Amino acid sequence: MARTVKRAFKYRFYPTHEQTAELARTFGCVRLVYNRALEERTRSWYTEQRRMSYVDTSAALTAWKKTDELAFLNEVSSVPLQQALRHLQAAFAAFFDKRAKYPRFKAKKKSRASAEYTRSAFRFRDGNLTLAKMGGPLDVRWTRPLPAGAEPSTVTVSRDAAGRWFVSILCEDGITRLDPSDKAVGVDAGLTSLVTLSTGEKITNPRHERRDRERLTRAQKDLARKEKGSANQEKAKRKVAGVHARIADRRRDFLHKLSTRLVHENQVVVIENLNVRNMVKNHPLARAISDAGWRDLRAMLEYKADWYGRELVVIDRWFPSTRTCSECGTIAGKMPLGVREWECDGCGARHDRDVNAAKNVLAAGLAVSACGAGVRPQRESSRTGRSASKQETHGATRGLPRL
Ligand SMILES: [Zn+2]
Repeated sequence: MARTVKRAFKYRFYPTHEQTAELARTFGCVRLVYNRALEERTRSWYTEQRRMSYVDTSAALTAWKKTDELAFLNEVSSVPLQQALRHLQAAFAAFFDKRAKYPRFKAKKKSRASAEYTRSAFRFRDGNLTLAKMGGPLDVRWTRPLPAGAEPSTVTVSRDAAGRWFVSILCEDGITRLDPSDKAVGVDAGLTSLVTLSTGEKITNPRHERRDRERLTRAQKDLARKEKGSANQEKAKRKVAGVHARIADRRRDFLHKLSTRLVHENQVVVIENLNVRNMVKNHPLARAISDAGWRDLRAMLEYKADWYGRELVVIDRWFPSTRTCSECGTIAGKMPLGVREWECDGCGARHDRDVNAAKNVLAAGLAVSACGAGVRPQRESSRTGRSASKQETHGATRGLPRL
């Protein structure tokens, strides 16, 4: 069963001097329009109690372009500017929905420099991508092919802190749904390993992580020694940003592989809602995977589950999943972070702290899952000689509050 989804393909590209200048100008205008519109919306609310809409901000943009002060906005493609207003609109919608904080200004240094081009502002022909206001196509490194006959709908150009240029191309792609599986897995954000699965498998940090961390420490020390405002400091800054970028890339790549694997192997994947968890226990430093990493993993699992016809269950983990025995439901006493293994007072089962938590996550997820009744917890081996029946799932759920 095939279906069509929107999928982004990201590539590096190497702009010419002219293109660099054009894009830098466009990024600056995008940021200015976003910030101005945010200022206007905030002012109109506080002084007139009036909510500006996207259409209002769009009219304001037209007016700005007619002033002497902002006439330079006419020099860049108008599409990325309109898109900036759309992004602001989305940010406000998220704020009014209580999904996000009040939109913030884009700082030149901190925010990612990017510009979004829709259909009318780029040309994609014979494998060449040309943006509005540009003479020639971008020198894109096509490291993987776009889907055959792809019709890109949106192109986003960005530059990261390390000075690397990327183009992300959104197009439709056919996805073949996977055959239904009868397996399910619980995923716990581990303390020592990156994630722990209810199967008992522990997934550790990517191979390069440690060496990259060492490189980062070296680069940061190097930067600290440089004279403020000097050309050497600028160079050292770039170097630090470069190491950061490589770490982020590898982490992302790793999370892509992990999420693809989990979705391929299981019908139901259960993870915890980390926001809720943070409110409960406040020791984010102790976790191997960062909040940002966890959010990325969750987002990847979400869309991949949707693509392939799987189910992702996100549970609000406000029950003591670490201290609850996954065999009998007995809740143990306080457990300091150093405790890696413990024995249940109720049934005598020995637990690895993280594996036990992952099993509880799975049980809680299956209790609310749409297809929970049809799947069984995935076991790495049948060491125990028991099949994981529905009854066992109920057993594991006992002692957990209903979600
Ligand atoms: Zn027990």
